[in-house]
Amino acid sequence: MDLIDRHGRVATDLRVSLTDRCNLRCQYCMPAEGLDWLPTEATLTDDELNRLIAIGVETLGIRDVRFTGGEPLLRRSLPSIVATTKALPSGPRTAMTSNGLGLKHTARALAEAGLDRVNISLDTTDPATFEKITRRDRLHDVLDGLAAAHEAGLRPVKVNAVLLRGINEHEAPDLLRWCIAHGYELRFIEQMPLDAQHGWSREAMVTADETLALLGEQFRLTGLDGRGSAPAEKFLVDDGPHTVGIIASVTKPFCGDCNRVRLTADGQIMNCLFAREESDLRTPMRAGASDAEIADRWIAAMATKLPGHGIDDPTFLQSDRPMSAIGG
Ligand code: SAM
Ligand code: SF4
Repeated sequence: MDLIDRHGRVATDLRVSLTDRCNLRCQYCMPAEGLDWLPTEATLTDDELNRLIAIGVETLGIRDVRFTGGEPLLRRSLPSIVATTKALPSGPRTAMTSNGLGLKHTARALAEAGLDRVNISLDTTDPATFEKITRRDRLHDVLDGLAAAHEAGLRPVKVNAVLLRGINEHEAPDLLRWCIAHGYELRFIEQMPLDAQHGWSREAMVTADETLALLGEQFRLTGLDGRGSAPAEKFLVDDGPHTVGIIASVTKPFCGDCNRVRLTADGQIMNCLFAREESDLRTPMRAGASDAEIADRWIAAMATKLPGHGIDDPTFLQSDRPMSAIGG
């Protein structure tokens, strides 16, 4: 059985949010004071999470499982969840999106558990800019985490960066140079309207074209073909071998090729990052639903996936759940 929607797209990439909590407060994601976290009883237990992942992988055609959050490293049982996922008969590819805090201590255990690769979020290598964006003085922890991931053989180590006008956009070429020097693959992500404070504006967003122009002042960029359903458009830097990715979620949406589905930490299926409706798997699971019944609900949840996110539509409404509670 496939997770197919009415527009013929098949979801094979599952993003699992392990917690909505986080130890940073990135401006584009969370307010300074944090958010009301999910109550413990609403959060899926490890057994519940493992069961839903198994249904996705073994019954519904999921091939890639990415652990995210909030901050996935805050879930202490992460290595055991990774190991359980990797041990499934179909052996899915596993990845994690993390801010890297504490990864220094867990990278090896995660690699041994079967984690294939990581995306670490880093918008700047300047400590003052880092503190301004994340509201925490923790740059050194992220850099240590990145080095530990590389050391543990989690490859490729990708870096996700969001540019904010007047704050770090001028650092884009330096960040690329730094990533290349350290063997990390950098991707810039356009800022999306997913912050809890609803502070996003189209005008303030640094567009993919602007990012390319900024990088183009210092590097020769050549577009590469063959992106498939990957969100990043890739460019060869100075004739290679290094590349840089640009994820133009807002200005050049790739919804037509989307193969993703999200499971929130409280057991809701979101068929799109921008979905305004979610489908509850936790309640039926706790009421005794069988694997087959849960799979049927999941299939039904995917069918209604909208053709696009509609950010540019005047009637666009931001999701009630912020990015940190969906799983980016
Ligand atoms: N805490 C982890 C991290 O920061 O990598 C995982 C969760 S975070 C929500 C996942 C990704 O979403 C990060 O790379 C982050 O930079 C990105 N992100 C968060 N808010 C965003 C926004 N409003 N627009 C674009 N990307 C955003
Ligand atoms: Fe936390 Fe990631 Fe959101 Fe930053 S982007 S506040 S690290 S969840």
